[in-house]
Amino acid sequence: MKRISVFLTALFIVISNVTLISGPAGARHFESPVTTETHSTQGCARKCPNRPLGDEPYTYQISGDRTVYSWPAIRSGNGWAIRQSAVTFSNKLFSLPFTDRDVTDATGWLYEAGDWHYAIDYSNEGVNKSFEVHPAADGRVIFVGWDDWSGNTIVISHEADGADSFRTIYMHLRNGPVNDCNKAWAESMPLLRDDSGNLKKYRAHLNASGCPRDEGGRQLKPLHWGTENQKIRVQKGDRVTTQQVIAFAGDTGPGGQVAAGDPNAPNTHLHIFFARLDPTDNVWYFFDPYGIYGASACYPKGITDPVERGCARFSIAWRNDRPQRP
Ligand SMILES: [Zn+2]
Repeated sequence: MKRISVFLTALFIVISNVTLISGPAGARHFESPVTTETHSTQGCARKCPNRPLGDEPYTYQISGDRTVYSWPAIRSGNGWAIRQSAVTFSNKLFSLPFTDRDVTDATGWLYEAGDWHYAIDYSNEGVNKSFEVHPAADGRVIFVGWDDWSGNTIVISHEADGADSFRTIYMHLRNGPVNDCNKAWAESMPLLRDDSGNLKKYRAHLNASGCPRDEGGRQLKPLHWGTENQKIRVQKGDRVTTQQVIAFAGDTGPGGQVAAGDPNAPNTHLHIFFARLDPTDNVWYFFDPYGIYGASACYPKGITDPVERGCARFSIAWRNDRPQRP
């Protein structure tokens, strides 16, 4: 995902609830103390280390939205520590953001060891079939738009204790083939840098999927772009429930497809960020609803299997502690 260079000064506020970091003094080494094997393997059959923090600050700002969402970190000595106040809470609001039984694959907080994601990807394993996306909890739509990196995006606010306390961010959604191809060229392509490799890859993908720059030459392949009835079904301000369909999974935006490598292959999936407003500093932080903060292999094998308690060192946000369809 896209990184932005400006890091929140708010993260430098010192609070007392911090576990001090143990890393090489002076080195640019950001390691959370909760990633040690001693802590991580207790009671977890999969022996999964919990790794909430990557090697460098991570924030995400959606195009056209001013909110900055951050990794759950706090400055600590020469490095960073997990922000306990961001990942510790008692609310259990969420269900899975789909009902489709063909969705069987979840990619966790890390894509794999050493490669942070700060989100969950849901997909039909290896099938590239779209599916209906539901809100992960009842709430209110506060943003609908095209993010330059992650394509069609919806943000839903979920109230807890009477306030905007949790948010879910749905990305790479479909909003009609013609619209999405237009947005790719008009909004995302101009922002990709020539030397990044992403420009070349994304252009190759657009060309291979029937979306060349020249509008007259377009033949949008449904496998990549979906159909005209697969559009976002909500608007900013709408109240939504878990029972309704808000959109369809796709691979829109460079971030939705470029990572897949093969320009001819679609990469249909739902990328969903979970975020929480830390009441101690009023900053939004990403959290893992599974409480695991690990690589994919650490997550329940079945999509609705219970979370192994020993694997989840932090708060689980699923209703009844278990990921269930709405
Ligand atoms: Zn993702």
